[in-house]
Amino acid sequence: MLRAVCASANQHKVAEIFDLMGGVIDLQPRPADLADVLEDADTLVGNARLKAIAVCAATGLPALADDTGLEVDALSGAPGVRTARFAGEHATDADNRAKMLRALEGKVRTCRFRTVALLRFPDGREIIAEGVCEGSIAETEIGERGFGYDPLFIARDGDGRTFAQMSATEKHDLSHRGKAFRALSLAIVNSVNNP
Ligand code: IMP
Repeated sequence: MLRAVCASANQHKVAEIFDLMGGVIDLQPRPADLADVLEDADTLVGNARLKAIAVCAATGLPALADDTGLEVDALSGAPGVRTARFAGEHATDADNRAKMLRALEGKVRTCRFRTVALLRFPDGREIIAEGVCEGSIAETEIGERGFGYDPLFIARDGDGRTFAQMSATEKHDLSHRGKAFRALSLAIVNSVNNP
């Protein structure tokens, strides 16, 4: 099995990525002493690549990275690549959710999560996949699970509950990250079989 290092330091995301990729990749945790990477690219692929390059350089192993944006129609696709910093440079998840609820008062609430998942090898080769989950922003926060915008996100293909009301398995079946990493798994298997 291919061995790779997970480039994410976010414990919630790491748990999801290990769930999703455990059977395909022998996934190692990010070295604890590796400094945070400045995610200042202007695309999701660019930010995933920055994280993967840093981990490849530090470990000499392939790196698995991802980056996610929330695209809100009433905000012309924002916050997108700035989703983590929607309410400011050092915003917490709660700050971001509160700002989103204020920004959408009286507006259309459709949106989507988009995730880019990227496996980068130390020689610069990359396998890239994307996952999109259409949905809408709830009127108030509902649910205790998950992280980030989960208490606000209602997937279009779900049953009306937010991601924060779902088990990890239910969320993986519908989510942007589930779709992106399942697509990446397929692409990895294909590239191993057809080098
Ligand atoms: P990142 O690129 O995965 O670090 O995420 C960018 C922003 O999107 C952060 O504010 C995350 O909290 C948020 N985010 C990413 N994935 C999810 C998710 O699955 N549910 C809710 N929020 C998410």
